[in-house]
Amino acid sequence: MTQQISLGRLLAKNHGTVVIEDLNVSGMMANHKLAKAIADMSFFEFRRQLTYKCELYGSKLVVVDRWFPSSKTCSNCGTKKETLTLDERVFECSECGFSLDRDLNAAINLSRVVS
Ligand SMILES: [Zn+2]
Repeated sequence: MTQQISLGRLLAKNHGTVVIEDLNVSGMMANHKLAKAIADMSFFEFRRQLTYKCELYGSKLVVVDRWFPSSKTCSNCGTKKETLTLDERVFECSECGFSLDRDLNAAINLSRVVS
C-alpha cells in the first residue's frame, strides 16, 4: 500500500497528465487467476489516492474507458489484434512485425489518448 501511494504521488508530481484505465475489476474478480492480483493491487484505493494527488499537484487525471483496446493495439502501426491472451507478455504485431513489452505498448497507446 505504501508503495502504491508513493507511486501515485510520483506520477502526479512529475506528469502534467496521468492516464489510467477504468478496469473492469468486478468482472476480473470472477476470474480466479486474476482475483488475487487485483485484490493485491487494490485498484480502487490506488485510483482514490491518485485522484487526490493529481488534485494536490495540479495534474490532470484521465480515466480511459475500460473497453479501449490499449493492450491489443499496435502502438507502431495501429493494427488491432483480435485476441491477446494474458500469457502474452510481449506484444508482437503480425502486420508490421513490431515487438514490445505488453505493458509498455499499452502505455504508449494510452498516452496517445490525451496527446
Ligand atoms: Zn503493427
